[in-house]
Amino acid sequence: MSEFPEQIYRHATYSTVRAWRERLGRYRLVGSRCRNCGEIWFPRRSVCPHCASREMEEYECAHQGEVLCHWENIFRGVALMGYAEQVPRVPAVIRLNDGVHILSEVIETSPQDVYDGMPVRMVLRKQKRESNSNWMYGFKFVPIRRAEQ
Ligand SMILES: [Zn+2]
Repeated sequence: MSEFPEQIYRHATYSTVRAWRERLGRYRLVGSRCRNCGEIWFPRRSVCPHCASREMEEYECAHQGEVLCHWENIFRGVALMGYAEQVPRVPAVIRLNDGVHILSEVIETSPQDVYDGMPVRMVLRKQKRESNSNWMYGFKFVPIRRAEQ
């Protein structure tokens, strides 16, 4: 019997070193902005794919946006974002207020209440296990209730 309350999916565990390098993106949505052409990239890049400039600066993306499209249950049995045993889940493409598109998950609401265009904000939640069994935290999105706007 495992000492962990849930199964660890080895095919989906993450290198601890890689998790450390990507922590700013996962914790604060830090990407890159090109000083030459102004394009914003997430995840972070060191060379601009648009103009090939190496003059990149850190850019913290907006933490609020809206659901561009969503679907249900497609990750059943696959631990891409952790909690694989919990279904139904609502993966979604989120368009942040600064125009960045992010594949993430809408949580803390029932799937039938999610609609395209729904305002959401970023929260930090457990995502999955690293290769050393540490929890990896990262962004997910929750609906913005009227009182928060
Ligand atoms: Zn550029």
